[in-house]
Amino acid sequence: MGKIDVKSKNVDELKEFLTTELQEKGFRATQIFKWLHDKNVITFADMRNLSHNLQTKLEQSSHITTLDTVTRHQAKDGTIKYLFQLEDGQTIESVYLPYADGRQSICISSQVGCGMGCSFCATAIGGFIRNLTPAEIVEQVYAVQRDLSVRITNVVLMGMGEPLLNYDSVIKAIRLLNDPLGTNIGIRKITLSTCGIVPQIRQLSKEDLQLVLAISLHAPNDALRNQLMPINRKYPLVELISACSEYTKITRRRITFEYAVIAGVNDLPEHAEQLVRLIKGLLCHVNLIPINPVEGFEFGRPSGVNLQGFMEIISNNGIEVSIREERGTDIDAACGQLRRRNEEVKS
Ligand code: SAH
Repeated sequence: MGKIDVKSKNVDELKEFLTTELQEKGFRATQIFKWLHDKNVITFADMRNLSHNLQTKLEQSSHITTLDTVTRHQAKDGTIKYLFQLEDGQTIESVYLPYADGRQSICISSQVGCGMGCSFCATAIGGFIRNLTPAEIVEQVYAVQRDLSVRITNVVLMGMGEPLLNYDSVIKAIRLLNDPLGTNIGIRKITLSTCGIVPQIRQLSKEDLQLVLAISLHAPNDALRNQLMPINRKYPLVELISACSEYTKITRRRITFEYAVIAGVNDLPEHAEQLVRLIKGLLCHVNLIPINPVEGFEFGRPSGVNLQGFMEIISNNGIEVSIREERGTDIDAACGQLRRRNEEVKS
């Protein structure tokens, strides 16, 4: 313990560590960074262009974070849900999603558990346990790349946890994934989804990151949103929408509003009309998600007719809207279904 977590470091930080702590040449940092983030090796002994002496020094001082695969479930559509064990025994889930157009996407977690308490989400049930380190965030991508011998092209931070409440590690992980010396995932192919942590949305707008920001809206008025998402009591819609509007002005990037449609709760025509009034004029796109079943909750899925009607009201008002393609529902890998199960950890 007390070892340096090298996978959480960017090239500059690695250089600093190598030159000041290990009395090595700075260019070694680039070599080590490539081994970790591009070639995806998991031992120092595999870093073949380092001297044996340096490999030994690294082994003594440093640590390479890896994840253990506890279970792996494949759905009929090719989606694979992984349950990964972290080095302290905690577990998280990640979902691999291959698409017919060649995109190789992965949905990753940012925290162990989640403290946001959204009433329709399975991750909320166990509460918040801890934040993930940058290494644990990027390693979800690398572990899947190693397992499947694929190159991930798209990353969505829509797994377990609230990414903006683990701000520094999440931003660091995004920059590591986007680094041209590493796995080099295009920044516009990285989506960060938040329940609406207003101060951090404002902070994110100043990061100069062209990522895709998705806001989990799910309700068009405060009364309903307070019921579904407790965070709304802290950051009500007027504040959230104003932060979103500022975000689009600063970044010139379109925001995605996610709206999980729940039968009889938020799928009435009046809700669609309220939604239009709320976001009209904003540079945005609405993504409708039929609510996914979560064991123990009695939320109903909207009928096709309701969903279509809801969508038409939005699009007739000139707002771009789509219905999210459902993936991995047969293995509980769909949005909001990720939950650590103790039985799986023990088996
Ligand atoms: N905390 C972040 C990211 C994780 S949740 C956020 O709130 O955005 C990823 C997405 O799944 C969010 O839009 C969340 O609201 C949605 N979600 C949660 N439970 C769901 C369910 N049962 N059906 C459909 N979407 C759900």
